[in-house]
Amino acid sequence: MHHLTCVSCGATFNAAQILYQCPVCGHLLAVEYDLDRMEIDPRAWKERPLSVWRYREILPVSGHPITLQEGGTPLYHLKRMGAEMGIRELYAKHEGMNPSGSFKDRGMTVGVSMALQLGKNTVACASTGNTSASLAVYAAKAGIHAVVLLPAGKVALGKVAQALIHGAEAISIRGNFDQALEMVHDLCRSHGLYLLNSINPYRLEGQKTIGFEILDQLGGVPDRIVLPVGNAGNISAVHKGLKEYITLGLIDTLPMMTGIQAEGSRPIVDAIQRGLPEVIPERHPDTVATAIRIGTPVNAEKALAAIRQTGGTAESVTDDEILAMQKELARKEGIGVEPASAASVAGVKKLVESGKIDRKERIVCVVTGHLLKDPETVVRQCKPPLEIDADLRSLLSALRL
Ligand SMILES: *Cc1c(COP(=O)(O)O)cnc(C)c1O
Ligand SMILES: [Zn+2]
Repeated sequence: MHHLTCVSCGATFNAAQILYQCPVCGHLLAVEYDLDRMEIDPRAWKERPLSVWRYREILPVSGHPITLQEGGTPLYHLKRMGAEMGIRELYAKHEGMNPSGSFKDRGMTVGVSMALQLGKNTVACASTGNTSASLAVYAAKAGIHAVVLLPAGKVALGKVAQALIHGAEAISIRGNFDQALEMVHDLCRSHGLYLLNSINPYRLEGQKTIGFEILDQLGGVPDRIVLPVGNAGNISAVHKGLKEYITLGLIDTLPMMTGIQAEGSRPIVDAIQRGLPEVIPERHPDTVATAIRIGTPVNAEKALAAIRQTGGTAESVTDDEILAMQKELARKEGIGVEPASAASVAGVKKLVESGKIDRKERIVCVVTGHLLKDPETVVRQCKPPLEIDADLRSLLSALRL
C-alpha cells in the first residue's frame, strides 16, 4: 500500500485522489510506502530479469502493468575515456536503450499503468520531445488517447516522428516548454485529462529504478551518480529510490547526486553554487541539448534536497563541450547518445579537471537518450559522405590509398 505525501508540509493524501501538487501548500508530492512493514527479499529480485518491474514491490501499480520491457539497460565501463580522464571506474548507464530510446519509458510504464488504475482514459503532457515520444508509445500499448504539447520548432526530429507514428494528438505551441507545461497543467485540471509530466509523482516511481539497476549491475553503491538535469525529475527519482533502500536496510550509504545543466539553462546550478533556498527561473533557456532546455525545473525542490543531502554538486557545460563529448562517446566508446545525455559525462570531465571531484571515485553517468533521437544535430556536426562516380578509380582516389 502507498499514499501521497507533501515534501514540504508533510500532509498525506489517499492514493486514490488525483493530485499533482499539495492541496494544502502547493508544493510537490511524493509516493510513500509502509517500508517498515515490508518484507523485501533482494535474492528473489535477482531471479527476475533486470527491468523496472524487478522491483515491483516498491512500485505503486497493483495489477498487470502496461509494459514493453523497459529498463535492463546496459551499464558500460568507459575504460578508454576513463583512462584519458584519469578515472579508473567511470561508467555510463545507457538509457537510450529503452523501448522508445530514453529513460522516460521507465516513468511511463508506471505512469500509464497508474492512469488505468485510476480510471483515466486520456493522458497528456508537455514535452521537449522524449516525454511525448514515450507517452505516445505507452498510450498506444494501453489503447488510450494521448495529447502532447510541444514547443514549436524546438523538438528534435526523431522525437516528433515517434509521437506522430504512435498516434498521439500532437500540438505545437508558439512558446517554450515552460509555457507548454503550464497550459497542459491547466487543461488537465479543468478537463480531467491525466497529466504525465514529471510533476506526477507516479512517473518518478518508475524512474527511481535506474538507481536500483545501477547497484545490481555494479554489485554495490557507486560514490557518485551524475545526471543531466532539465525538469530535475530524474535526479530526484534516483535519490528517492536509494533513500528507500536505506530505509529497507539494503544499503547504508548514498551516492553523491550530481546534476549537470547546459550553460544557457542552469537554474539548479546557480541555486547550488550560490546556496539559494530555491531556483530563480531562467526566462530564456537556450541550448543545443533540447531535452534540458528548461528554465523553470518543476522538481527543483526535490533536486536541491537530493544534491545537498548527499554532498553532491551541480555544474554546467557549454554547448561546445556537450557536442564534443557526444562525438567522443561515439568514437571512443561506441556509445551513441543525444546531446543532453552527453552533458553528464562532459560535466564529469569538467569537475575532475577543476579538482571538484576525486579521480579515485567510482562514478556512474546516466546517459539519458539515444543518438537517433536528434539526427539533425549530428549531421550538422559531421562532414557528409563524399559522393563519387561508381567506379573503382574514383573510389581509390577518394580514399587516397
Ligand atoms: C527528460 C530528459 C532529460 C532531463 O530529465 P529531467 O528529469 O527533466 O531532469 C535529460 N535527457 C534526456 C534525453 C531527456 O529526455
Ligand atoms: Zn503541503
